[in-house]
This record gives sequence, structure tokens and C-alpha cells, in this order.
Amino acid sequence: MNKIPCDVIKDLLPLYYDDVCSRATQKTVEEHIESCTDCKRILDKMRINIGLSPETIEKNKLEGEALKSIKTFWNRSKAAAFIKGLILATISCAVLSLGYIGLTQWNITKVPADVIQITEVSRLKGGRIAYHVKMTDGYNVNQVNFKLDNDGNFYMTPVRPVIKSKKFADIGLANSYEFVDLEQVNANQKAKGKDVEIQAVYYGSPEDHILIWKKGMVLPAASDAIEAQFVNLDKD
Ligand SMILES: [Zn+2]
Repeated sequence: MNKIPCDVIKDLLPLYYDDVCSRATQKTVEEHIESCTDCKRILDKMRINIGLSPETIEKNKLEGEALKSIKTFWNRSKAAAFIKGLILATISCAVLSLGYIGLTQWNITKVPADVIQITEVSRLKGGRIAYHVKMTDGYNVNQVNFKLDNDGNFYMTPVRPVIKSKKFADIGLANSYEFVDLEQVNANQKAKGKDVEIQAVYYGSPEDHILIWKKGMVLPAASDAIEAQFVNLDKD
């Protein structure tokens, strides 16, 4: 048999690859490829690059390799690369927004004691301890956490997000008259099955705080002006 020119075989290769040529053509191509590494390489390249004719996809599915074709598609298609980029961009965006919300909303930073100013500590008529608290750095306090340790130390810990705000700092938790009701705290603890009597009250964290009161300390009686701060609370 005369050797068929490579150009003719190259024209036939796609048909051969797609399995849509006659038996005779198929045989011709196969015979040529056996002795021609150039054309064989072209066919091999086709198998690698295309790899996804509708027949192949169907075959893959039948062979339970659908996952493989998805993976192949994912890895090779430019469209997929774009979608992949889009998905990654969306995820990064979500992570960044969530991170920003977190930094401005999650109250995870304890206010250092050196900017906490406690003044006018006094005893209200009902027995509660009143005090005025102010954050001297001018930033807002978003939340106050309470903790009573096993030794009876009661901590009122002011916390803020990582990105702190000055908004409401002049009227909120960062600048106001507050009180602590020892009897109530003791009763709450008892109700929780933890019978610890309060020995001391601190504003700040267990590591960094200001003492407001400790057992044995005699506090001055609250002035009328301070009593007046809590009148409405008593009515509620
Ligand atoms: Zn050839």
C-alpha cells in the first residue's frame, strides 16, 4: 500500500478521533499512525486537549466518571477559569466585609484601666453602690461584661470592637452614672448554685482594673444629686 500523505491523515484525524469515519478510513489512519510518529503525536494531543467530545462526556458518565469530566472541564476551560475567578472574588469580598463588620461590631477589646475614670463612689439609700464611670480616651464602650470569680471578686469589664468609635461616647456606657447591687448579684449567684459572697467590686478585667469597693470599706452616703440619677430606675 502506498504511503498516504500526512496532510490527508491530518484531515482525517478529527473524524477518526470522533469515531465518525468508515471502517476503511479508520484502518488507514491506524496503519499510518503506527509508522508515523508525527501524526500519532497530533492524535495524542487531540486526546489530551479536547478530551470532552459529547461522546466522551456520555461515556464518562456511563463509566461513572462524571466527576472526572467536571474536573477536566473545571481545569481546562477558560470559561471555568473566569467563573472560578468570580467565585473566589465573591468569597474574598464576603470575607473582607465580614472581617470589617467584625472589627467594628464584635466587642473583643477590653478597655485598658488607665483610661477608666471612676468617681463619686457612694452608697445609695437602698444599699446599692453608685459610681460615675468615664472613659478618658473619648471612645465609646459598647458593652460591659460581668464576671464573679470563686474568691468573690466581681469584675465589670467594659469592651469595644477592634475599630472603636467616638459615636455616643459622651452619653453611653463611656460616660454615665451606674450602680451595682451586691445583694442582687449574690442572689443571682445563689440561684445559679454558686454560693460565693462578693468580696470586692472592680471596674475592668481581672488582669487590669480599678477597685470600686471591697469588703469592710465604708462608702459615703450618696448625695441627693446622685440619688436623683436613679429615681427613674427605682420606679421601673
Ligand atoms: Zn503522518
